[in-house]
Amino acid sequence: MSSKRDYYEVLGTSRDASDAELKKAYRQLALKYHPDRNPGDQAAEDKFKEAAEAYDVLSDTQKRRIYDQYGHQGLEGQGFSGFSGFEDIFSSFGDIFEDFFGFGSSRRSRSRTQRGADLRYDIQLDFMEAAFGTETEIHLEKLDTCSDCQGSGCEAGTQPEACSYCGGSGQVSRSQGFFTVRTTCPHCRGNGQMIPHPCPGCRGTGQIQTSKTVSVKIPAGVDTGSRLRLTGEGEAGRHGGPRGDLYVFIHVETHEFFERDNTNVICRVPISFVQAALGTSLKVPTLEGEKTLKIPKGTQYGDVFRFEGQGIPSLRSGRRGDQIIQIIIKTPTGLNRKQEALLKDFEKLESAKLSSKLKNILKGESARA
Ligand SMILES: [Zn+2]
Ligand SMILES: [Zn+2]
Repeated sequence: MSSKRDYYEVLGTSRDASDAELKKAYRQLALKYHPDRNPGDQAAEDKFKEAAEAYDVLSDTQKRRIYDQYGHQGLEGQGFSGFSGFEDIFSSFGDIFEDFFGFGSSRRSRSRTQRGADLRYDIQLDFMEAAFGTETEIHLEKLDTCSDCQGSGCEAGTQPEACSYCGGSGQVSRSQGFFTVRTTCPHCRGNGQMIPHPCPGCRGTGQIQTSKTVSVKIPAGVDTGSRLRLTGEGEAGRHGGPRGDLYVFIHVETHEFFERDNTNVICRVPISFVQAALGTSLKVPTLEGEKTLKIPKGTQYGDVFRFEGQGIPSLRSGRRGDQIIQIIIKTPTGLNRKQEALLKDFEKLESAKLSSKLKNILKGESARA
């Protein structure tokens, strides 16, 4: 007596399910009961095998027709006996497992290419170099493709050979009771290839440590935290993989006179209180030489003046910000007698001005009252 369950029931589909529906249903079951996810679970193993057998039959037009008409017995009459084990399932459904899991098929051909590592280099620029850009050379130690073997790792005139331990698949199977466990081949580390005559220059790795000088163009307007990417200047890839990139991190030194606020440049200019009171004209340093600044009469501490377009170029647009000049008023110290006497006279006049102002205010208030 046959104890087999109905194949449609196993997959949980209707009897008129399309090929796509069957595949989807099988995929879900295979994922759920895959031996890698259920190690040592006998029930999962049985379900996994049962689903594989059901899908094997129903995905084959001829077998499905026989099964629909005659059931399990019809297939047995055709010599169909299901699968003997996991190896059988994986080899039958290699392509399906490839796109289900990205592994599982013994026929798979894994891509061996490997991108090279990205590198980081930190660079210190002075204020002016950052403001207007510069060109500099940086020295790097990095892994590069071995020029003796062009990265193959093989001595001149020799070739890599398929790994004899795993037959070139990069994986080995081991039986553990009912299970067949597949692991990465320990001899070739999954590459599937061995190098019988390694290149003496790189000892078979295909790469060598080199020091290289790279010329870097720093654009105008960079600031601390700016990062430049030099495509392909990182380490060499393996097995024909692309090169990594080089990232240059910018650090800008502070300036004794200028401070930076994005594209604006800020500076502080000290003047005497007499200059502030009477107005004056001053020579102020800019990023490109000195420029005259007119200070009007009655300028106060903290007043701000601007040189438009004298700041730092924007990294994106190239448009320059402004130079912002903050006025600082210095109180005079170390006065001689004459200066003190003059200031006292000045103060008398100033308080007379104030008291007459005050009288006027008080008069106004009493008139209103
Ligand atoms: Zn191997
Ligand atoms: Zn080499």
